[in-house]
Amino acid sequence: MEIETIRTGPLSNRGITVCRGCHGGELVSILDLDVQPLANELLSSATSPESLYPLHLRMCARCGLGQVGEFVPPDRIFSNYPYLSSVSSSWVAHARSFAATMTKQLKLGASDLVVDVASNDGYLLRGFLDLGVPVLGVEPAQNIASIAQETGIETLPVFLGVETARQIVESRTQPRLVTANNVLAHVPDLNDFVGGLSVLCGSHTVITVENPSFLNLLLGTQFDTIYHEHFSYLSVIAVSALVARHDLELVRVEELPTHGGSYRYWIVRRGNGSDDGTVEAAIAREVAGGLLSNQLWVDFEMRSRATISSFRERLSEMTTNGSRIAAYGAAAKGNTLLNAAGVTNQEIELVADGSIEKQGKFLPGSRIAVVAPNELARYGPSDVLVLPWNLASEISVIMSELVPDARCWKAVPAMTLLGAL
Ligand SMILES: [Zn+2]
Repeated sequence: MEIETIRTGPLSNRGITVCRGCHGGELVSILDLDVQPLANELLSSATSPESLYPLHLRMCARCGLGQVGEFVPPDRIFSNYPYLSSVSSSWVAHARSFAATMTKQLKLGASDLVVDVASNDGYLLRGFLDLGVPVLGVEPAQNIASIAQETGIETLPVFLGVETARQIVESRTQPRLVTANNVLAHVPDLNDFVGGLSVLCGSHTVITVENPSFLNLLLGTQFDTIYHEHFSYLSVIAVSALVARHDLELVRVEELPTHGGSYRYWIVRRGNGSDDGTVEAAIAREVAGGLLSNQLWVDFEMRSRATISSFRERLSEMTTNGSRIAAYGAAAKGNTLLNAAGVTNQEIELVADGSIEKQGKFLPGSRIAVVAPNELARYGPSDVLVLPWNLASEISVIMSELVPDARCWKAVPAMTLLGAL
């Protein structure tokens, strides 16, 4: 098996020596995960060659932004992005409820426009469209943009930036609502993206951005959410400073349970709103929680290394004792865990996933085969490792029907039996 290790330098110094957000030069090492393959790039065969790139989380001591370096151009990451949001039922329910609430709250109607950035298969815009509100998706993954387009969600297959935002405003209008969920972290040129949001933002525009919380990542030992395609790890402190540089203002912060603890940021044109108290409170919580303290960073690194080594030991023990181990959920975060622990397809033979696009492929690094859920049932595992722990309760219900005799586990922040939760 040939694995080529890339020895060329990174594409940019952002995330390595220069902060992607504030351009400051005070980046501190938080967790070095050595070299890893791209977490979202599934292999077409168990013997496909693949490249490994340094994966190292650093923190800007000045603006509170966590970040990794850029080794692969975004078009490679997004050109055939396999994730279909509609596969996760809890995610679709979250989106539906958001569309209903926002339509009512902003009194959206047929003369308004809702733009969703990184609209994926249109799962979020569908809710608005069903309520009679015109929508436009922006989705750089051509294959996914086409799926949305086929189901009647008008979708532009482009990256959002200052230039594409200008084109949207010229050809349509400034939207009443712009949503950008779980995308800010995946943008290498953060300032061009937020500059694009600023172009879209009129005096009556509301922008909502959802993104996992960096403080929760650090406190919850969620090191497996670190991967190359996840360039930035956002805090309220960093977002507040970032949007202010683009003449925007963060006016509200809501806490959400998604992705192990996320924030919904409410952003308007500067001068058209002010902090309702939640921004100041959230920043105070981040400071009190130690986001900018060296102690928390060191502690996070120790906990992460302990989780990886105890998972490694436990897996070896289970294999030695004759356990038949499978996994569920071919998600990016699973790959960081598996590769950091050096897991191979000798130990975990297959991983089931509901996404047809992923089935028949192999996880990067570990080369575990991705199969349909019914194949997992036929395999008859004694133990199932649930990789996307943020969906653990939803998946453990599926497992109790699919493989009722198997024990279900999650490995982060510690090896835990899900039935015992
Ligand atoms: Zn910074």
